Amino acid sequence: MNTGGPAGILEPLAPCVHCGFCLPACPTYLATGDENDSPRGRIVLMRALATGGIAAADASLGRHLDRCLGCRGCEPACPSGVAYGQGLAAARTVLVEAKGLPRAAKLILSVFATPVLWRPLLTLARWFRSTGIPRALAGNGRISFSMGMLAATAPRPRSPAAPLTRLRQAPPDGPSVALFTGCVMDTLFPHVHDAARRTLEANGYRVVEVERQGCCGALHEHAGDRASARTLARRNVEAFEGRADFIAVDSAGCGALLKDYGHLLDDRPSADFAGRVRDVTELLAAAGPRPAGPLAVDVVYDAPCHLQHAQGVHTAPLAVLRAIEGIRLRELPGADRCCGSAGIYSLLEPALSHDVLATKLESIRDAHPTPTVVATGNPGCLMQIGAGLLAADIGARAAHPVELLDEAYRLHGIYGPGEPEHR
Ligand code: SF4
Ligand code: SF4
Repeated sequence: MNTGGPAGILEPLAPCVHCGFCLPACPTYLATGDENDSPRGRIVLMRALATGGIAAADASLGRHLDRCLGCRGCEPACPSGVAYGQGLAAARTVLVEAKGLPRAAKLILSVFATPVLWRPLLTLARWFRSTGIPRALAGNGRISFSMGMLAATAPRPRSPAAPLTRLRQAPPDGPSVALFTGCVMDTLFPHVHDAARRTLEANGYRVVEVERQGCCGALHEHAGDRASARTLARRNVEAFEGRADFIAVDSAGCGALLKDYGHLLDDRPSADFAGRVRDVTELLAAAGPRPAGPLAVDVVYDAPCHLQHAQGVHTAPLAVLRAIEGIRLRELPGADRCCGSAGIYSLLEPALSHDVLATKLESIRDAHPTPTVVATGNPGCLMQIGAGLLAADIGARAAHPVELLDEAYRLHGIYGPGEPEHR
């Protein structure tokens, strides 16, 4: 268990031998060239915080830790096995306990901790998206980029020939799966949830619904607000207790923390919960997935950091996409690098977030032929990359891998006519 406090910082960082192999994997170091914005530099700062060599109130310490994306791209690059993400979370918790949260972060996190606040606000945002105004205003400025992020949550346009929803056959009697619905995914990406439910059913899973679940707490944990993260985690553990064989997640950022609930709460029910969590692509890949197509899309896959680095899931999303016959699929060069989204980072550190995104957009622009879809399985990445594509006028859209598999199934008769769905 991560004990928190100085030991919680020092233990995971202890193997660091300052070799610097992680530096070329760090997007913020590559953007600023400042050693203090590198994993190695931040480890020195965090160790100093833990041993009393630097005060929690030190402005430079806070600045360089705030500028860390928490993407964990440094972890696979490290030959010594430094658990950087754990050390960072403990250090941020120490800083928040000493200084409190910055005002903007406090406001955003309190909204996500309160369903009666985030649900109407995000539902209102979805209505605003439907007016087409956010898409029309999308651009590179602070407000216009936010408009682009909202516009990028819209479903991918689909063929008008496609029938609506539901599996043709009776629901299967396979392993039961409960979908983790979360907050942003549930309100701005319900079409991805629909696609996840349908594709799971089409691959033999029995999908069950779980009430009284809520935000996973990842935004809070990454910001250092561990108390709120624990409160939210407890609510989810209770809601899912004894409810399904697996808990499917279609948001990589949520999935990474849900798989870590055992560590966060340190009790048996939370460890049981964590042991049942799978990214939706892991479940689909384990079942095949059932092929369908052809679907004429030219896709580059960009791995969410919290899927590839935090969960170690790399091949499953590619297996899901390869089940679509006729797809042209490539991995984006630099797919293992963060896009600059990182939860609320893009709101709190917009300049550096844009610098990191610029590298991602260059890779997309340089891909020949130009892709029609950038596939990535995390809401933050879908919004950040989607807004970047709009601002840079690149004629591609961001989409979740299950949206594409769902469309292939829909077009090729795996589903029958059914109920209207979220659009
Ligand atoms: S974190 Fe790992 S790769 Fe980076 S300096 Fe330390 S030991 Fe080297
Ligand atoms: S988590 Fe990401 S931004 Fe932070 S030090 Fe590691 S690679 Fe750099």
